[in-house]
Amino acid sequence: MSHFIPDKLPAHIRHYIDGGHADSVGGETFDVLDPVSNGNYATAAAGQKADVDRAVDAATRAFRDGPWPRLKNRERARVLNRIADAIEAREDRLAELETFDTGLPITQARGQAQRAAENFRFFADLVVAQLDDAMKVPGAQLNYVNRKPVGVAGLITPWNTPFMLESWKLAPALASGCTVVLKPAEFTPLSASLWAGIFEEAGLPRGVFNLVNGLGEEAGDALVKHPGVPLISFTGETTTGQAIFANAAPNLKGLSMELGGKSPCVVFADADLDAAIDSALFGVFSLNGERCTAGSRILVERGIYEEFCERYAARARNIVVGAPHDPATEVGALVHPEHYAKVMRYVDLGKSEGRLLAGGGRPPGLDTGNYVAPTVFADVAPDARIFQEEIFGPVVAITPFEDDAGALALANGVKYGLAAYVWTNDLVRAHTFAQGLEAGMVWLNSHNVRDLRTPFGGVKASGLGHEGGFRSLDFYTDQQAVHITL
Ligand code: NAD
Repeated sequence: MSHFIPDKLPAHIRHYIDGGHADSVGGETFDVLDPVSNGNYATAAAGQKADVDRAVDAATRAFRDGPWPRLKNRERARVLNRIADAIEAREDRLAELETFDTGLPITQARGQAQRAAENFRFFADLVVAQLDDAMKVPGAQLNYVNRKPVGVAGLITPWNTPFMLESWKLAPALASGCTVVLKPAEFTPLSASLWAGIFEEAGLPRGVFNLVNGLGEEAGDALVKHPGVPLISFTGETTTGQAIFANAAPNLKGLSMELGGKSPCVVFADADLDAAIDSALFGVFSLNGERCTAGSRILVERGIYEEFCERYAARARNIVVGAPHDPATEVGALVHPEHYAKVMRYVDLGKSEGRLLAGGGRPPGLDTGNYVAPTVFADVAPDARIFQEEIFGPVVAITPFEDDAGALALANGVKYGLAAYVWTNDLVRAHTFAQGLEAGMVWLNSHNVRDLRTPFGGVKASGLGHEGGFRSLDFYTDQQAVHITL
C-alpha cells in the first residue's frame, strides 16, 4: 500500500514561548512516529520544568501587563473570528497533517478541522452575548457580578482528534481573557505546530498563547504543579485525571476534567432498527473507535437480539479499513503501536469473553501499520473486562437485556458515566430511561451530534465539571460579587 507523506513535513517540532519558537533549555527531545509506517518522522522538543517555567512566565507577563485581558469582549471576539478564518484557510493542510499523525480517516479529519474553526466562532459570539447578573433589593442594596479572567490557564490535551480538542479549550480560555500554556499529547504534536502561525496571523498579542511539547510525566506534570497556573483544563484518561487531581491539590487549582468512557447504546425492540444499526456502527467505528463518547457497549432487547447481532455484524464486516489518506477509508490506523498492542490484547481477551461475530485481528492484506478490523463480540457478560474497561478502539461488546429495569442496570453497571444512546419509539420510556441513566450526555434516537451550548462532561469516573456554552466561560473566569448599599 502507498504511504502518503505530506509535503514539507517538519523534521523537528519546537515549543512556542513568548512569541517565538524554542527548543528545550537542556536540548531534550522525543521521537514522533506515524501510525502507518510506525517509523519516526520527526523529533519534538521534550519540555522540562524549566521550559514550562519560561512559558508560564511569558503567559503571566502577557496577563499582567498586556492588552488581552483588558480588551473589550467585542475586540477579543474579532481576534477569535480571525483565528477561525485562519483555521479554515488551512483546512486541507490541517486535515492531511492530522490524518498523517493520528491515522484518522481523511474525511473525518477534515470534519475535525471545521469543528475547530466553529469552536472559535461560537465562543466569539458567546462572550459578546454574555449577560452577567445584577440583583436588587429595592431601597436597600444593589448587587452585581464582576466577571474577571482567572489568569494563566494550563491546557492538557489527548491524542484523539487533537487539534479539535485543543480548540475546545483554547477558544473559551482566550475568549474569557485568560492567557494560556498548552501541553498537547506527545503521540500527536504535529497539527498543534500550526497554532503559532494561526495566532500570529490573527493578531493575538505576544505571550498570550504558549505551547510546550513533551511527555505527560515531565511537561504535563510541571504545568499541573506550577504555582503560577491557577487552573487546569484536562482531557484524557481517568487514571491520569486522578494523578492530576492529587498533584493540583496543594495549590487548590480549578480543575475541569473530561475523562474516559464506556458508553452504552441501548436498543429497545420498538426502535427504528435501521436507524439504530446505522448509529451504533457510527458510534464505535467512526474516528477509529478512538472516541471518548464511543458507544462501545450495545445493549439489545432480547426479542430483536439475534436479528440485531446478525445485521450489525454483517455491516461491520463491510467497513472499509485502509490507508488514512484514502477518501474511501472508514477506519484508518490506530494512533501508536503501544495503543495498537493494548487494543489487540482486548481483542484476544474478547475471544474468551464473548462470541466473535466480526473482525478479531488484523484486516487481511494490511500486514504493517496499526490496523485493527472492526471487531464485534456478542453475548458479553456484564462482568467481562471488555464490558467494563475502556478499549478506545474499533471493538464493541453486545449484551442482551430482558426489560427496562435490566437495561438500566446494565447501562449504569460500569464505573464510567460519559454518554449514552437510547433507541426506542416509546416517548415516555425514552425520557424516563434518560432520567435514570448515570451519564453526562444522553442522545435519544440520535447520533452523537453536539450543540456547543449544551453541557459537555461526564459523571462518575468520566469527569469533573462541565464545559460547553456559558459553563466554559464560567470555568475560565472568576465571578466577583459586588454589593452596594442604596
Ligand atoms: P492520557 O491521559 O494518557 O494523556 C492525556 C494528556 O495528559 C497528554 O497530553 C499527556 O501527556 C498528559 N499527561 C499524562 N500524564 C500526565 C501527568 N502525570 N500530569 C500531567 N499531564 C499528564 O490520555 P490519552 O491516551 O492521550 O487520551 C485518551 C483518553 O482520553 C481516553 O481515556 C479518552 O476517553 C479520554 N478522552 C476524554 C474526552 C472527554 O471529553 N471526556 C475526550 C477525548 C478523550
